[in-house]
Parts: sequence; structure tokens; C-alpha cells
Amino acid sequence: MMDKAERCRQLTDKLSDRHILQKEEYLFLIENKDLCSEYLYKKARETTDRIYGKDIYIRGLIEFSSYCRNDCLYCGLRRSNHKAERYRLSEDQILSCTDTGYELGFRTFVLQGGEDPWYTDARMESIVRNIKQKHPDCAVTLSLGERSEESYKRLKEAGADRYLLRHETACREHYEKLHPPEMDFENRMKCLRKLKELGYQTGAGFMVGSPFQTEENLAEELLFLKELNPHMCGIGPFIPHKDTPFGDREAGTLSMTLFMLGLIRLTLPKVLLPATTALGTIDPRGRELGIMAGANVLMPNLSPGDVRKKYLLYDNKICTGDEAAQCIECLKKRMEKTGCRIVTDRGDSKGGNENDQI
Ligand code: SAH
Ligand code: SF4
Repeated sequence: MMDKAERCRQLTDKLSDRHILQKEEYLFLIENKDLCSEYLYKKARETTDRIYGKDIYIRGLIEFSSYCRNDCLYCGLRRSNHKAERYRLSEDQILSCTDTGYELGFRTFVLQGGEDPWYTDARMESIVRNIKQKHPDCAVTLSLGERSEESYKRLKEAGADRYLLRHETACREHYEKLHPPEMDFENRMKCLRKLKELGYQTGAGFMVGSPFQTEENLAEELLFLKELNPHMCGIGPFIPHKDTPFGDREAGTLSMTLFMLGLIRLTLPKVLLPATTALGTIDPRGRELGIMAGANVLMPNLSPGDVRKKYLLYDNKICTGDEAAQCIECLKKRMEKTGCRIVTDRGDSKGGNENDQI
């Protein structure tokens, strides 16, 4: 009989060739991840190299509002967290972040915030239009949570190129354990599909090790991602925030997050895959290891220094004291050790909506 390590290797090869496995096969790999993680990372990195080379794309993250009307149980910005410090950046402040970012070589700006109704469609349109007008060679990515179809449409017309909306979990029962009853799994999924339909380069994603997540859930995530075929996929470890209902839960692990990055890369070879700040938070070498496991995007913080300590989704977030320029220098150094290099390029996806998997 074939031993487990041999079976893992075979399944990794199969995934690397065909870019899809059965749920049981994914599950077998996840359950036995320590037997084949190094081999998986090697295959995943090779696949990334084949499609994107050694280039690492950078996205300047602007955390423009810490107000949120939602109450996701895992998040430090949830409305019930009365200890959270709230702020909003004005249009001028946002534009000054993009100017600084442009000077530093950023050609993508990600505007992320809580679901804050203060940013009406008209206000967001104006922000997007003005960024695109000042920097026509840049891509604008929005990460504003769930909005109406009309709103997504207007923002697209205003010039937004991409949208990040993590689905958080592909399993409805699991979703309901992570969110209050008024939040609806179906609506989240509907938003994601709508964004794709409207022509956004769309990013889905989830937290690794979120409360109640099972290994079977993780296998299902891969099947869901294969079906959705997003341009981008943001995953990072769940990290507890002390002033939330999940404050005393365990964080997701480095090893499982890296393993999922590798599996995602082989499942969706062309996907844009960030090594997230959360990954860098649970381990000082997290982002470098993420790149070695197949990630090809970094999202350094471009928010003004005085608000960084207020945008706390989870505890112990890194880089809250650095200037944007420092972040870039630090990341460049970190990347040297991986053999990859940061490039200044819009870094569009090489796949996605067209369903042109290789
Ligand atoms: N409000 C928007 C964007 C900001 S939150 C939205 O929810 O889509 C961005 C992402 O941060 C979320 O999708 C979630 O996956 C992640 N996040 C929130 N709380 C977290 C935590 N405690 N640990 C790790 N990631 C978290
Ligand atoms: Fe708000 Fe996003 Fe945090 Fe949920 S995850 S509470 S929507 S900021």
C-alpha cells in the first residue's frame, strides 16, 4: 500500500498538472500537510514563476475609514466595539496619500474601509474620479464591503478597476457563526458575482483558522474558488482582537496559511495572491514565506501615520508606526531573501473573467 507521504506527493503532482482535485483529495492533503508542504511550496512557486516570473506587485493600501455599520464577530472595527477609535479621511487626505504613493512607485491604490455610509456613492465617485484623473496610469481597487448593484455600477463608471470582497467562508452555516443574524451569506455571494459581471477584476478570500472552521471547510474553499475563478484571492490567518466576542480564540497558524496559499496557487495558477499583513503579523517571516509558497502581491500601508493605530481589525498589527517609504524599503529587503523583486507596475491579473485557465 502506498504510504501517506507518497500519496501526498502524487496528489500535489496531479493538482499541479490539472489545477483541480476532488474534495476528498484536497482534504487528504490538508490533513497530511506536514508530509508534503515543502514539495507543495516548490511546485506552487514554480507555477507562479512560470506565469508572473519573479515580479512581486505592490498595492498601496489606504485605510480611509474605521467606522463600520456591521458587526462581524471577528473584527475589531465592528460597531459594537465601543473601544475602537473611529476616523474618516477626507478626499484631500486620500488624494495626498495617492500622491505620496505615486512618488514611491505605487501604480495601484486600494481604498479599504469599514462599511461606512458617510461615503455615499457621490462622495466615493468623486474620490475615484479624482484619483484616476491625477494618476491615469494607476489602477484603483475598492474594498468597501457590500453595497447595492447600482453603487457598484456607478463606482465602476467613475473609474474603479478592481474590487476586493472576501467571501469569508464558502459554507453558509459557518458564515452564520461568524456574523450576526442580519448579515446574509447569499447577499455576500450575490455581491461577488455582480462585481465580476460588472467587469471589475474581483478578489474573494477568507481567513485561515477562523473560529469553527474545519479542515473540510478548507477543502470546500478550494472548490468554491475554482468555481468562482476570481482574479485575486486574499487569505490570511484569523487573528483575535481582544475587544470582540472571539477575543480569546486561537489565531490561525502560519503553516496552514502557507499551505492554503500553495494549494490556491496550484488551483488557480493565474490568480493574484497577496502575502497579507496578517501573515506578517503572526510570524516575522510570514510574508517572505508566503511569497515562497506562491504568493505574488504585497499590500503595504499608505495610510497617514496618525490613523494607522486606529484601523485595527485584529491585535498586534505590524507596520502601524512606519512611514510608507520605510515600509517599501523594508519589503524590498525582505524580498531579496526570496529571490523575487518588487516591481512598479499596475500588475493586472493574467487570468480571471475570461475563464482561460491554463
Ligand atoms: N469592511 C470591508 C473591508 C475591511 S475588512 C469588508 O469587510 O469587506 C477586510 C478583511 O479583513 C475582511 O474581509 C476580513 O477577512 C479581514 N479581517 C477582519 N477581522 C480580522 C481578524 N480578526 N483577523 C484577520 N483578518 C480579519
Ligand atoms: Fe466591518 Fe469589514 Fe470589520 Fe465586518 S470585517 S466589521 S464589514 S470592517
